[in-house]
Amino acid sequence: MSGQIIFLDYDETYTTNKPMWDSIVEIWKSNGLAVVCCTNRFGHSHYDADVIEDMGRLDVPIVWAAHHADKWAAMEAAGYIPENGIWVDDRPMYIWLNRPVETMP
Ligand SMILES: [Mg+2]
Repeated sequence: MSGQIIFLDYDETYTTNKPMWDSIVEIWKSNGLAVVCCTNRFGHSHYDADVIEDMGRLDVPIVWAAHHADKWAAMEAAGYIPENGIWVDDRPMYIWLNRPVETMP
């Protein structure tokens, strides 16, 4: 299990039930999994303050994917290995947007 990492979406994933996801994040962490929030937001200090506050409380780093072509590219740019991620996302199409299926790992 070592080295495994959860890539957790924020809007309509984490936000569906924050207390529930808080508990799940703690379960993941207590089982040795790292957790990173990957959200299709820009990281504006005002508009995205909810993400910053919630993930800050959980000590979960945030990747602001709206600056990139898709979430896969955002995680690569942030130094993560997307193939190693366990993606938890209500809109998985945004992880791998407009890429030919033949190029999937
Ligand atoms: Mg979402």
